Amino acid sequence: MILNRFIGGPILEPRLKKVYLINNYEYTTCNFMCKYCYLGRIFKDSCPSYLDRLTRFEKQIEEYIRKYGLRSIKALLISPIGEPTLDPELPTILKYLKSYGIPVALYTNGSTLSNNHIFNLLKQFDIVMIKFDTLRKDVIDDLNKPSIRVDPTEVYYHLTRFRREYRGKLYLDIMLVEGYNDHIEDLNDMISAVKAINPNKVFINTPYYPNRGGARPPKTEKLTYIYTRLTKFMPNRVEIVDYIPESYVNKKMDDPIEEFIYISTLYPMTKEDAYKYFKLFNLNPEETLHDLIKLGDVEIVTWLDREYVMSNTLARKLL
Ligand code: SF4
Repeated sequence: MILNRFIGGPILEPRLKKVYLINNYEYTTCNFMCKYCYLGRIFKDSCPSYLDRLTRFEKQIEEYIRKYGLRSIKALLISPIGEPTLDPELPTILKYLKSYGIPVALYTNGSTLSNNHIFNLLKQFDIVMIKFDTLRKDVIDDLNKPSIRVDPTEVYYHLTRFRREYRGKLYLDIMLVEGYNDHIEDLNDMISAVKAINPNKVFINTPYYPNRGGARPPKTEKLTYIYTRLTKFMPNRVEIVDYIPESYVNKKMDDPIEEFIYISTLYPMTKEDAYKYFKLFNLNPEETLHDLIKLGDVEIVTWLDREYVMSNTLARKLL
């Protein structure tokens, strides 16, 4: 997928609340190919260094923030179309975003924690959210399909080390998928691992949205089991993410349609949310959606009894 925008929002992100959503890539770039991924086809598993992109990145961010401000924004969240730590320009991007004086957060799949340079770079972020789905190599190979060798027990080791050395907020994100990592023995192992890591918060996530490999959420009993066990030793620090975030809060947007396509590319959006969004701009919801579908910009995808509006490029790769 190709995307020529580097910032959008703010959105109400499930973990951090009101954030600007920062994307540092123009092509989907990831060293994983998770079955539950929402992004459709991954174009690259590495990112070349090219200053041209950095110049455009900074220009776009600067213009956007100058226009819409930072009032009540909780963080600038780097959660791009891929794995952000593969970007050789990440140190420059971090330095640039920090110049705005508000927390900078990053969402990573954790695969590069064993690289000392990345390990130390992550320590400079205010909030780091790390994916931690399993302790089993066969599950990571089957569910996350890394293009490099990833040993989850090594990831676990580096996570505990990172927690000891890191002064910011560490959030773990566990994606539970039916039939892959939701067996009771695996849940028990994950509970012990989370206990040892002791993050500021842990989010139990599920593939409640359309995704590449048809990954499905586990049964409610499994979610209740892990949630109840974790909250015993981490009260108020465990949350289940099985809902769609309110996707929109900026009513002053110049081009609401372009913004709609950016947000719905990076975050799942239901048809109801899309209608609410259009109403904010006094657009007729049915007509606007109909026109976007006709133009080929978006498609409707049904998943688990809900209808989602997805950018057309994505939908075609997922169907
Ligand atoms: S879900 Fe995240 S880590 Fe997995 S393939 Fe998609 S972008 Fe990469």
